[in-house]
Amino acid sequence: MSEIDVHKIRELDPPQRVLMGPGPSNVHPRVYKALSMPIIGHLDPRFLQIMDEVQALLRWVFQTTNRFTLAMPGTGSSGMEATFVNTVEPGDTVIIGINGVFGNRMADIVERCGGNVIRVEAPWGQIVDPQRLEDAFNQANTPIKALAIVHAETSTGVRQPIEELGALCHQHDALFIVDAVTSLAGIELKVDEWEIDVCYSGTQKCLSCPPGLAPITFSDRAIEIVRNRSSKVQSWYLDLNMILNYWEDKSRAYHHTAPINMFYALREALRLVQEDTLERRHHIHRRQSNKFLMGCEDLGLEFFIEEEEYRLPMLNVIRIPDHVHDLAARQTLLLDYNLEIGAGLGELAGKVWRVGLMGETAKYANVVYLLEMLEPLIQHK
Ligand SMILES: *Cc1c(COP(=O)(O)O)cnc(C)c1O
Repeated sequence: MSEIDVHKIRELDPPQRVLMGPGPSNVHPRVYKALSMPIIGHLDPRFLQIMDEVQALLRWVFQTTNRFTLAMPGTGSSGMEATFVNTVEPGDTVIIGINGVFGNRMADIVERCGGNVIRVEAPWGQIVDPQRLEDAFNQANTPIKALAIVHAETSTGVRQPIEELGALCHQHDALFIVDAVTSLAGIELKVDEWEIDVCYSGTQKCLSCPPGLAPITFSDRAIEIVRNRSSKVQSWYLDLNMILNYWEDKSRAYHHTAPINMFYALREALRLVQEDTLERRHHIHRRQSNKFLMGCEDLGLEFFIEEEEYRLPMLNVIRIPDHVHDLAARQTLLLDYNLEIGAGLGELAGKVWRVGLMGETAKYANVVYLLEMLEPLIQHK
């Protein structure tokens, strides 16, 4: 352990990095500026107005008319946790599609809530076949509370097709829960059209805002379940019944202090997406990803996901060539070139790199820079 002399800690000077990992992504100057605006009270009428504006922008970005759309304190994981602690009661059964780290985390949380998990697993790098999810419903001998799945599995770079799953869930009277932490504003996501009941996200991926809030939206069907629980939500902090009193109630009852300046930042980040339009953001992700993958092919790098259709444009996963030292190469990129790329997670550690092109990071200059810096690092010695 290094001994730090507190009297020698100097003014903060973080380096300027190009963030091409799985998040955080780079932040627009307007968002930094918003973060530094004067703080006001969390019950100040102007702040309540700002919350309403953030809510309207979130409805827009989620493509929903859901009344219960908000930003929870904490990162994307707090959205994940809030989703399950509020909807799952002890003894409930939840079907979870699992093909990476984040599907496993959802299962862990459901079990911590006392729920039973029916795991529908697929090898990492592949989608969970929708037919197998349907089979899981048909073979279950108990009512299913919900089906949960990750839209953009950031650990593998797989885009899960989810368009048809909402209708399937509703045939079986189950909630449809979607992790959209990496997909929101990255690829097409239509909460209402796809009949999603709970959808949560984070701020530091394709919204290009610092981490700290979890945008989340609940259908009326989901809210009814939360309101009619027979047991109390075991998490006091994430109990939606109380949080909604702050967001919804005329009295705006105090629950926790909203992270005020994070709301400023999220508001500005959402405004930037809106000025660009969602369609254009999606297009930019696809375009820069194509350029990056073409460059990788030229360098002889292989893609982890075989089927092009299921590759995420904002998270490109490439195999590390056998002769290349993973950590040494990433450290050279980071320390010599101020360029961060993502390591493999879980069973993919040491095998792949995850290259994020999210939001502000998705720029041709960054793609070219990374390809230029990678070339000498992957050459045979
Ligand atoms: C990043 C991520 C999370 C967790 O979000 P944090 O902001 O790191 O807490 C959850 N799910 C997916 C798919 C993610 O990519």
